[in-house]
Amino acid sequence: TSPLLAVRDLRVRFATEGGVVKAVDGVSFDVERGRTLGIVGESGSGKSVTNLTLLGLHNPARTTVEGSAVLDGTELVGASERTLRDLRGQRVSMVFQDPLTALSPYYTVGAQIVETYRRHTGAGRREALDRAIEMLDRVGIPQAARRAREYPHLFSGGMRQRAMIAMALVCEPDLLIADEPTTALDVTVQAQILDLLGELQAQLGTAIILVTHDLGVVADVADEVLVMYAGRAVELGPATRVLETPKHPYTRGLLASVPRLSDPLDRPLRPVPGAPPSLLAPPPGCAFHPRCDQVIAGPGSPCRTRAPVLVGVGDSGHEAACHLEAGAGAAGVGSAERER
Ligand code: SF4
Ligand code: MG
Repeated sequence: TSPLLAVRDLRVRFATEGGVVKAVDGVSFDVERGRTLGIVGESGSGKSVTNLTLLGLHNPARTTVEGSAVLDGTELVGASERTLRDLRGQRVSMVFQDPLTALSPYYTVGAQIVETYRRHTGAGRREALDRAIEMLDRVGIPQAARRAREYPHLFSGGMRQRAMIAMALVCEPDLLIADEPTTALDVTVQAQILDLLGELQAQLGTAIILVTHDLGVVADVADEVLVMYAGRAVELGPATRVLETPKHPYTRGLLASVPRLSDPLDRPLRPVPGAPPSLLAPPPGCAFHPRCDQVIAGPGSPCRTRAPVLVGVGDSGHEAACHLEAGAGAAGVGSAERER
């Protein structure tokens, strides 16, 4: 069976005053029905742009999008605004780091969920209100009928995020895109929200794309992981493989910065040194090479001259884009290398 979402060679460029930014530079992945893909990367890695592009939430006048993204038979790249509007909320919805970007301060939480539900289903007011209250209850908001009549500013950060999840899921979409949904929350509430997403996913069969800078969050919930760096996929595969046997030096660096319960108390947690590159003028070769502790030395190093492509690194669809994995340190392009 085909995946719910198949993204192939997605490319997104922005025209800016300083030149062309390749925000997403040839990214491919699948999302299976009812499963969770974690997309991980630092800010500027292209992880958010990838998802906004799928929903048509970018500025088309200054943006070029190429490639393909097929959601259950519908091509999203180049789709009309009308097609995308019909999909948003109904088949695909989104939750963001800051719920106040999605919730209006001028309407009660209940009214906003009612409006979303009615717009997509044509349900009557009474039925939609019942449905809104049911969803608020399902996301763990106590006294849902009363709280439905309150404005978002009366909700705590965690409760607001729950309300946004209720609104995002009220039409039971096939795909939920959650972009840093727990980043603004404290650790305890963060864990509760991730648990909630997992429960709702099990009940509703929703596929989730979880966008985060935090590999620890992904470890908790993702079935598959895509690690992005400078607009490209650097590692992709089943979460267990990527997290237990990471192949890309960047993924290993991210993992070293994630605290774990099993850690000895004195295990040092270090962020990956350095900063992500400018997408206006990314480094030649492997964009990660200025920060890589395993960069292949010497003149003519492929790390400095050729961009590595994803290659299989074991079974189960685990892939990484690193010259060390392609065995190309000496021999140039290895036969196992393939474009995708
Ligand atoms: Fe490091 Fe070279 Fe691999 Fe890039 S290709 S991650 S610079 S070893
Ligand atoms: Mg972002």
